[in-house]
Amino acid sequence: MKILSKLKRILTQLSLLTFLAIVAWHELHSPPTILSDVYPYLTSLSPALVKQCIDENRTSPTIVLEELLAIRSTLPDREAQPLIEQLKNYVPFSDLDWGLIPKNTPKNVQRRREILNKYTYYHPDKYRFPVIGTTWFEDSFGADREGGKRRHEGTDLFAKEGTPIVSICGGKVEQLGWNRLGGERVGIRGDDGNYYYYAHLQYISTSLVKGKRVEEGWALGTMGHTGVALTTPDHLHFGIELPNGQWINPYPFLEVWQYAGEKRGS
Ligand SMILES: [Zn+2]
Repeated sequence: MKILSKLKRILTQLSLLTFLAIVAWHELHSPPTILSDVYPYLTSLSPALVKQCIDENRTSPTIVLEELLAIRSTLPDREAQPLIEQLKNYVPFSDLDWGLIPKNTPKNVQRRREILNKYTYYHPDKYRFPVIGTTWFEDSFGADREGGKRRHEGTDLFAKEGTPIVSICGGKVEQLGWNRLGGERVGIRGDDGNYYYYAHLQYISTSLVKGKRVEEGWALGTMGHTGVALTTPDHLHFGIELPNGQWINPYPFLEVWQYAGEKRGS
């Protein structure tokens, strides 16, 4: 009897341990949760406004870009300006005098500032434009493809065959080589957790292998028209997939990265 109860206890402990191990494993391996307001805000920002704030930040470097952008993307000019004047006069963000602005607005701006600080797509030094040289692109996210069978889940960047394509950020090579739609494609798991998809390449850099680390600006290959792009002009299809499997519109980010890159180069 004694042995039996001992065995029972050991079994109970074992199953508890197994349960805890499964929970811990799950916690470690599940994708990070992204709050639902993050990407709707980021992808809704107008590239023109972001560019304006980057320029303004250049002439007033004591103001933090993220604070400027959070204020300007929430308030009209006449309400934003007094706040920005305070920032120019070294008033910390937390001590701003909001005047007659309704109470929930500062909270909103504060939240947007948090998002911009954590998700640094619009910070001019954090990401790289993926095409080296002259290129043309427009916002075609969500457009019909294959007669409405699927939606366009990225941005097409057009340039001539052979134009170098580089990684927009640091990360690891997750996918490499041929698939039906993408042709010669490279998939990078960025350090930020998102999956970056580069498709229709002419050649993939021979130095790339699955699992290899790449840094921002490293060559991934050259522009082509492989996969479903066989009959279209040469272009790079660039996509961003969040850890939860949702593809988001890369267009506003690309516009800003190109602009920031040109400014850096000049
Ligand atoms: Zn495309």
